[in-house]
Amino acid sequence: MITDILQMGENTNLRGQVIVIGSGIAGAEVATHLARHGREVILLESGRAQFDPSIQALNDVIFLGKRHRELKPNSYYHQYLPPELRGVSRVRQFGGTSNVWTGKWKYLQPSDFEARPWVPNSGWPIPFTELLEHYRSAAKDYGFGDLEAEAMRAEIVELRTQIAAKGLKMTSFYWEETPTRTAIRFGDEMRRSQNLQVVLGATATELRLDESCQRVTGVACRSLEGRELIVEGQVIVLATGAFETARLLLSSDRQLPGGIGNQHNLLGRFYTDHPKHHTGKLYPGFLTRQYAHELQYAPKPRFCICFALDDATQQEHELLEHVLYLQPIYERISDRLWRTLRGRPVCRDGNGTIASYRVKFVTEQLPHKQSRIKLGTERDPLGQRKLEVDWCFTDQDRRSMAKTLELLTERFEEVGLGTFDFGNDPPSLETMTDAAHQMGTTRMASHPEEGVVDTNCRVFGTDNLYVASSAVFPTGPSYSPTFTILALARRLGQHLLTRTPTTPKLSSV
Ligand SMILES: Cc1cc2nc3c(=O)[nH]c(=O)nc-3n(C[C@H](O)[C@H](O)[C@H](O)COP(=O)(O)OP(=O)(O)OC[C@H]3O[C@@H](n4cnc5c(N)ncnc54)[C@H](O)[C@@H]3O)c2cc1C
Repeated sequence: MITDILQMGENTNLRGQVIVIGSGIAGAEVATHLARHGREVILLESGRAQFDPSIQALNDVIFLGKRHRELKPNSYYHQYLPPELRGVSRVRQFGGTSNVWTGKWKYLQPSDFEARPWVPNSGWPIPFTELLEHYRSAAKDYGFGDLEAEAMRAEIVELRTQIAAKGLKMTSFYWEETPTRTAIRFGDEMRRSQNLQVVLGATATELRLDESCQRVTGVACRSLEGRELIVEGQVIVLATGAFETARLLLSSDRQLPGGIGNQHNLLGRFYTDHPKHHTGKLYPGFLTRQYAHELQYAPKPRFCICFALDDATQQEHELLEHVLYLQPIYERISDRLWRTLRGRPVCRDGNGTIASYRVKFVTEQLPHKQSRIKLGTERDPLGQRKLEVDWCFTDQDRRSMAKTLELLTERFEEVGLGTFDFGNDPPSLETMTDAAHQMGTTRMASHPEEGVVDTNCRVFGTDNLYVASSAVFPTGPSYSPTFTILALARRLGQHLLTRTPTTPKLSSV
């Protein structure tokens, strides 16, 4: 069922087996999976079905270093948001950020999980194979195309082979026609479920520990209307996104100074995003003309391609993994005249004649301790300490990006993919924006000295507190993160079934 904190009486205590906090793609996945398997689940969500700017304001942060993207009041995207909030990187609403996201689903690659000696702090403590069954089952349930079959399609294999000869690689992602909106996908199931109670308008403000300080016994919640609620459970899952997950752990510092999971002062550190640049152009070469149909972006749903330097080149030059996306820009009459006068060959796909490709350059950022979020002194309307975000880069990030661009430029020309033109706005970390892919603030590790959660996403030092979010990514190669968030959430859902026997119904005490 779906309820609201305002429907609860004063001083209500709720009790469930599992408490999931956050109703985005991660939280909805864990909560519905457990409820379908007979577990009594309470899902706490700060937002409500309708977007509310005063609730969204609880996400406000103070930037100490590089800022996130500028908001775009005139954007035709996200028209449902008030103009002054169009372009936000995180959304506080039932369904979370899935209310605004674009719907590109991408597997990480096996090499993304491996430690790279030239990238400090790289490597996941779990291999790609741990996630493969979850990627596959999610793709099936959500009705995506088969990315593995796509990788073996004849045209894709041919193009991949041709560019491999010049030290380039390419991978495919699936782009939905209508991006999955969690509230729509799971809304009916949640309303009907006997085992799942969603409480909207309930912002978790503190995790309460038992005397041992190893077990979370309950979650204190508050609403902007002043209603308070305590929710008790055996297992707690934080699915509040990379910023709010770290914030809640840091804020729960009454019993454990420094917050929960912060024994080694790593909580909130290693914050990375995917700085991106998208004002460049590619003028197509013969290979692009030959495979233009494979590079189409519309109509959706469809598989699309992105390019990078191959693994051997990255190793040889000690580079991070930066990725190029190419979006066709179709000819206008003036472009056609220009091309005809110069005797340039036609580049055509299923949608028309292409003048050039818009180049989006998305970068991997080195995970390092100084790039971090922490609690500041300013308070939000619920009296919670706001986050201060110190998003910063290293010299290695800058070197890696510059060298990658140089090599991509050479190799795209040599292999016949085309010629770049970045005009007077070449990619630079200073001018690039975030990609709304916050990662790494509670990184996964084998040992508590190296991270905040273990390989089951359990917060080190606790028995029953878990994280479902890109917060656990130890590194974030430059690809869309949400498929991996979903695969990790599925894996966590399965793991939690083994930690929670089926029990009697939810109770209100
Ligand atoms: C414009 C845009 C386009 C994007 N496009 C893509 C794309 O194409 N492909 C891709 O892979 N990724 C994309 N992303 C990123 C993607 O949206 C996120 O990775 C994903 O939605 C994160 O899901 P989540 O469940 O981890 O977090 P969220 O969806 O952010 O959910 C967190 C939930 O927790 C709630 N919450 C927060 N704090 C509290 C609290 N204290 N108490 C209770 N509830 C709380 C929030 O209200 C929210 O509902 C895009 C992002 C944006 C902004």
